[in-house]
Amino acid sequence: MQISISEHSSVVFFTGAGLSAESGVPTYRGAGGIWAQYRYEDYACQRAFDRDPQRVLHFHELRRASVLACAPHAGHAALAAMQAAHPRVQVVTQNIDGMLQRAGVRVDAELHGSMWRMRCTQHGIRDDFSGGAYASRKCEHCAAWLRPDITWFEDSIDEAVFARAGKLISECSLFVAVGTSAVVYPAAAFVPLAKRSGAQLVEINPETTEASSLFDRHIALPASQALTTLFV
Ligand code: NAD
Repeated sequence: MQISISEHSSVVFFTGAGLSAESGVPTYRGAGGIWAQYRYEDYACQRAFDRDPQRVLHFHELRRASVLACAPHAGHAALAAMQAAHPRVQVVTQNIDGMLQRAGVRVDAELHGSMWRMRCTQHGIRDDFSGGAYASRKCEHCAAWLRPDITWFEDSIDEAVFARAGKLISECSLFVAVGTSAVVYPAAAFVPLAKRSGAQLVEINPETTEASSLFDRHIALPASQALTTLFV
């Protein structure tokens, strides 16, 4: 049965790495996942960056180049079309890859930051879309190393972004989780929050997850197929 978006006052799509999987971006969990090949302690935490910033930045440049070689798929385009037709369709993502934005989707909250931004502790955040390689590895104001503006292991979350996402989710009447294992906290807590707030919950994932029992419907399809056929 199809879901009519216009019957809902507010809709939140909550997306995870599985949304990008069909574009060729590796997911986090399972075979072929990034952390099955690399130790995060060497590449994706502040301690590793403080020890050897060049090594960590080089690793992230390789990831940027591999994401640039991928293209958004029909599911991303379907989300962009839904937003264009219904302004109350909002997107909260755990993804850092920028694929949604490349497809023309307006992302309301990037919970874990973006690989297309850099951050200086003193001089703040700047965009960096220069390609695989960063435009600059050092801050132009103070020459300190710039770090990727993403949430690494052991980092604290961005409280303001989580608060904004929590507000959108607690006010929505339809909550659609797409391609998330719903085990990475605190983002995973948005599923029970949507439930408590009285939204209708739909899960799009070829596999069941630890959170599946909370959902009203589980759509066992890849994101591209579900997003292009389920919603009217
Ligand atoms: P996850 O890797 O833990 O889970 C991915 C889920 O997607 C799995 O449940 C899997 O069954 C499902 N999936 C696989 N193919 C799918 C498809 N075609 N359609 C729909 N679902 C599919 O991902 P997560 O829950 O987002 O948690 C991973 C964490 O790591 C996040 O915090 C995220 O920030 C980060 N991460 C981001 C990216 C990215 O930006 N693309 C990639 C890897 C990891």
